[in-house]
Amino acid sequence: MSTQAKRIKVLAALAALVLAVLLIGFLINLPAASAGRLGPMAAGAIDNAGQATVTDQVEPAAPDAACAGGPTIDGILLDECYINNFTVGGTAKSIRVWYTKNPVTATRMVNGNPVVLSHWINTDAQAQQVAQWGQQAWERYFAIFGRHPYDTGCGNRINIQMEDGVGWSGIAYWASPGSCRIGIDSPMVRGGGGQWVVYHEFQHYLQYSFNAGCYAYLQANYPSDSVYVEGYADLAADSVTTTLDATGYGNSVAGYDPTTSLMNKAYGDVYNKYYIEQVGSMYNVTDPWHHLDALLAHYAECDVEDNPSALDTVIPALKSALTQVQFILNFFPANTTNHSANLT
Ligand SMILES: [Zn+2]
Repeated sequence: MSTQAKRIKVLAALAALVLAVLLIGFLINLPAASAGRLGPMAAGAIDNAGQATVTDQVEPAAPDAACAGGPTIDGILLDECYINNFTVGGTAKSIRVWYTKNPVTATRMVNGNPVVLSHWINTDAQAQQVAQWGQQAWERYFAIFGRHPYDTGCGNRINIQMEDGVGWSGIAYWASPGSCRIGIDSPMVRGGGGQWVVYHEFQHYLQYSFNAGCYAYLQANYPSDSVYVEGYADLAADSVTTTLDATGYGNSVAGYDPTTSLMNKAYGDVYNKYYIEQVGSMYNVTDPWHHLDALLAHYAECDVEDNPSALDTVIPALKSALTQVQFILNFFPANTTNHSANLT
């Protein structure tokens, strides 16, 4: 082989090597780069059109395989985490999902009986999906309520821990400065569920942010005030996506029980639906968050009066000449008609 031929061969080999390195680099980057657009997180993406205050410019960070400092639950360390960074209303926020993929059961004594628990999830993608649902809720609630879910003293971050819930599918642990954490049921997420629950728990953290008096009252009186705490968490949960809006409405209509007091309701309360329908005024009827301004008005007045009974002030303020008593009396024939219409 001539010297020139050798030189050409060496150059060709070098070029091939450079191409290979570039290609490997491209392939390595591909999953991370496309995760935000093509992965499971895109499936539940909300339409932010028209919401000038919502920004979503920061791609989620890649999953962190080993993550020190996670909680230990029943002896099981949540040894991995996924941090989802995003910007809401011009402020950098994040959701950190703690989880483990370690498929080891744990046993907890509950009321004197052993309960076997499976705290793990199956994949990193499941943690990412939970974080993405949390972001969707955060963005939507900020757009509606003009404030962030409670993250005081938590570095603009809310933590989610994946655990096997005993008697719950999600839990919004009471928040305090420096303590911002939500539990999400791992078996539910392993089975593909959890979207509604994540939205629901984030609304509890939005409720906690009304902490000039309302949050303290709700905390002290839970669960007797569930008509507002749980009812409103469901009311807001179905404001995030159109599909869940329809599900929430259908369930609340079907689930109405006329034999119990209006004030003894909790989840999926059709009376809450009627409240926003009648006295709310903002947003388009096709928006899942249609008339949620009425929910904001109630939270805000609850914070002023330190009591959710503020509705006797809120209702006439939103709809002149309508008293709370008249409003409640109107509800019954409206709801009865609604049920009758469904019988055809
Ligand atoms: Zn709840």
